[in-house]
Amino acid sequence: MTEPSGPGGTSPGRKADPSTSSGDPAQIRSFVARDAEADARQAARRAHAEASALLRHSRDVVAILETDYSVRWISESIEDLTGHPAERYLGSLHLDVHPDDLQVAIEQAEASGLSRPGATTLYTMRLAHRLGGWRWCEMHLSNQLDDPLVRGLVANFHDITRRKAATDDAAFQAHLLASVGDAVVAADDEGRITYMNRAALRFGGWSLEEVVGQPVPEVFPRPTAGEAIHDVMRTVRDGHPWSGELAFDLPDGRRRWIMANLAQIREGQGAGGVIGVATDITSQVRDRQHLESRERMQSEVSRLGQMALATHELGAVAAAIADSAGQTLGLDACAIAEHVGDDQSLIRASWGSYPFPVGTAPVTSGKLDLQRLVDDLDGPLLVEDFETDPRFMDALPEEGSEYRSGVIVRIGSPTRRFGTLTALSVEHRGFPAHERRFLESLTTILSTAVERAEADRRLTQMGLHDTLTGLPNRVLLRERIDRATARTARRDRTLAVLLVDLDRFKLLNDAMGHGAGDRLLVAVARRLQHAVATSDTVARLGGDEFAVLCESAEDLDDVFDLASNLSTALAPPFEIDGTEVFVTASIGISAHRSGTTTSDTFLREADAAMYRAKDSGRAGYEVYNPALQERAAHRLDTTTALRRALDRDELTVAWQPEVPLSGDPEGDPHADPHGDLGRGELWAEALVRWNHPQLGVVGPAAFIELAEETGLIVPLGEVVLHAALRQLRTWLSQDDGSPRRISINLSPRQLSQSALVGTVEAALAEHDIDPTHVVFEITESAVMENPDAAVRRLNELHDLGLGLAVDDFGTGYSSLSYLRRLPVSQLKIDRAFISGVTHHEADEAIVRGTIELAHALGLVVVAEGVETVEQRARLLEMGCDRAQGYLWSRPVPATELDHILIELSSHRR
Ligand code: C2E
Ligand code: CA
Ligand code: CA
Repeated sequence: MTEPSGPGGTSPGRKADPSTSSGDPAQIRSFVARDAEADARQAARRAHAEASALLRHSRDVVAILETDYSVRWISESIEDLTGHPAERYLGSLHLDVHPDDLQVAIEQAEASGLSRPGATTLYTMRLAHRLGGWRWCEMHLSNQLDDPLVRGLVANFHDITRRKAATDDAAFQAHLLASVGDAVVAADDEGRITYMNRAALRFGGWSLEEVVGQPVPEVFPRPTAGEAIHDVMRTVRDGHPWSGELAFDLPDGRRRWIMANLAQIREGQGAGGVIGVATDITSQVRDRQHLESRERMQSEVSRLGQMALATHELGAVAAAIADSAGQTLGLDACAIAEHVGDDQSLIRASWGSYPFPVGTAPVTSGKLDLQRLVDDLDGPLLVEDFETDPRFMDALPEEGSEYRSGVIVRIGSPTRRFGTLTALSVEHRGFPAHERRFLESLTTILSTAVERAEADRRLTQMGLHDTLTGLPNRVLLRERIDRATARTARRDRTLAVLLVDLDRFKLLNDAMGHGAGDRLLVAVARRLQHAVATSDTVARLGGDEFAVLCESAEDLDDVFDLASNLSTALAPPFEIDGTEVFVTASIGISAHRSGTTTSDTFLREADAAMYRAKDSGRAGYEVYNPALQERAAHRLDTTTALRRALDRDELTVAWQPEVPLSGDPEGDPHADPHGDLGRGELWAEALVRWNHPQLGVVGPAAFIELAEETGLIVPLGEVVLHAALRQLRTWLSQDDGSPRRISINLSPRQLSQSALVGTVEAALAEHDIDPTHVVFEITESAVMENPDAAVRRLNELHDLGLGLAVDDFGTGYSSLSYLRRLPVSQLKIDRAFISGVTHHEADEAIVRGTIELAHALGLVVVAEGVETVEQRARLLEMGCDRAQGYLWSRPVPATELDHILIELSSHRR
């Protein structure tokens, strides 16, 4: 630049005459004239010539201004700057200064006291160029009024347009970097931070002074995701740009994730350094991790639920659960303790660094009743910090010492607690709600497994006897019949089985209440026992059905005598709760002399005979008559008739609602059950009926088995399928509370047909039904008959989008684990368990356990055969989703169901 030549060569301090050809020679001459001495004049003239040359060749511009800023003199070099010759400016008030800058300049001059002699000030201003546009100048102005040679203001200025453009650029870039939302960090070739923009500083709440000069890995410590930060830095310094996710922990321990792009700085002095641009993706990463961990938890719950179904070993289930909790949540320790007495627990499973091994009983401090603490809570007990938690002030649980935080969850219910699950971490850990829920699900699985183990134990314990009366049950009776049969083979004696069924017991039971009914059954059992010989067996087969195995009879007459003895024994009134009750029984007899008759045959014949007895007016006995074998012939008749029925469209579908229980907002156990029909979405099961021309409506019990045997079930099934879908079409097109989803029964034979799926698909299309409205019911035994084919078929149906339900659940108890292989969405608990749910502990345990496990597996549970409000209340309390039974409606024609619903809705209005 022209800087050095400017002030040095033209300083008014040298009192040089700055005259040029374009200056004012007269004035300059008058200065010189004051000097009298000729030599001096000579020297001055030379100096003057030198100064003039200097000014001519200088690129700086010099000017002398009057106090009113008008130009007295200006150097030629102004032409280089503005394109105008110097003459243009003489006497003028301004130098074509940009109006904005002029205003500023005047203000600045006043502010800096330029009117004082010797004062100076520096301006930056724009001058107009002849060709248009502006030139930036830096102008130094000094007051030289007291210099006799000048007596004016000396201006000295030069072009800074290029410099100005460059610095403006840099300022702009810096501003840009500072204001972008992304974090920008630069580091030198040693990896020390040289720059961080605002967004980057905000990240850790740092100040620029704090971080500049610090090594990058120290400011962004402990990378845990992706590559370690110094490896990344090395890669970048070797010239390879890098982008990816990085994690680091802030000084306060919070973990942040960034998506970063790093590159080498190539230009200028920063060469070898690294620049990184990063976006904070912490919340996205959190969301992603949250989702992943949720999925992991869900699959763990389902895996463990299935395991609990498949195994009876509680220890193994507990160990798997402790394992899963530990690994899924990344704990330091986890334990499952069984509560074995006051203040006493036994470790059943432990994981990680838990200090007490399985089988030991840690001594509790006594001051702290952990169990009570957990019992008092609705959900899991969360301890954020054992040391500061007031609940642990008096005493730390022995395991609390080295752990910082934890969650303790009760296993079982407050009334039926099993123990606790303890999850521990050495770190301060939040255990968010979804993690606590996960732990709760694990304990639910475990408590269900516990209940199931208990039910199993009870079942085997009482396996052979009826709990109410203490009499042998059906299983034991069969065993005794078969043993006796073997004996009579050698002794040639009469063996008889008498089936004793109380008349109208159900009425009595309903009228007196179940407790009284039970007492009556016990009394009946006692009288029957007194009426038989000691070698005979009295058994209770269930409900109001008893059986006597008579091994003491010589001939059939003895058996008839026994039958009338039994009737006589029941004749006197029973006194139950202070009232006299009269009981009669219908007795069916099966008697054989040969030793080849099986218990099955005995019981079936006795059953048939008993029904005859009932038919012929009750309170009597009938002996099984081979003439009854007519039934076999009758069967043939039925086959032909059934075939004809199919041809003549005599088959219809009856509907039985499956009402929602959980839809009851208050879950009121005493609500009018009728209301369930109009609450929530109604479902219904299709049950086939035969409109027999002579016999009237015949239920499936009379012909389904036969249809199955003969294969007629296949066309029959198709008739039902079409009838059911047709009805569903009608219901779906009206919006009046009519069923939204239907169940259709599938028999084993149907399931084994490879054409089934095609038939179903075509029928759905024909009736324009979305498959999600249809559920097929299959029994466990249907699957067991041909598991591979069944599973394949069910998967095909499932793939079509149909729902699948396991029907009569519980009757195939041993094959529970099969559920796992089936794509089922629903489970229907068999009527047999529901009828016992209010007064049989084992039934209640099984139903409760089944509901909880089914829920753990994500299945909808439907209870079958609900007949009483008590059963409904119990099921509601157990969380059963739906129920079906006479309590709401018998299976009825669609029109009748429509009527019920219309009536219901008019009641509501
Ligand atoms: P399921 O599938 O278990 O049907 C339920 C049976 O329980 C029905 O008998 C129903 O009337 C009866 N039920 C419902 N609620 C109660 C109650 O509260 N108390 C009592 N005691 N019983 C109740 P249903 O209609 O006689 O049918 C008998 C069986 O015949 C059905 O048992 C099912 O296995 C079979 N079935 C019915 N329709 C079809 C069909 O279209 N195809 C096939 N393959 N089987 C069918
Ligand atoms: Ca069914
Ligand atoms: Ca069923």
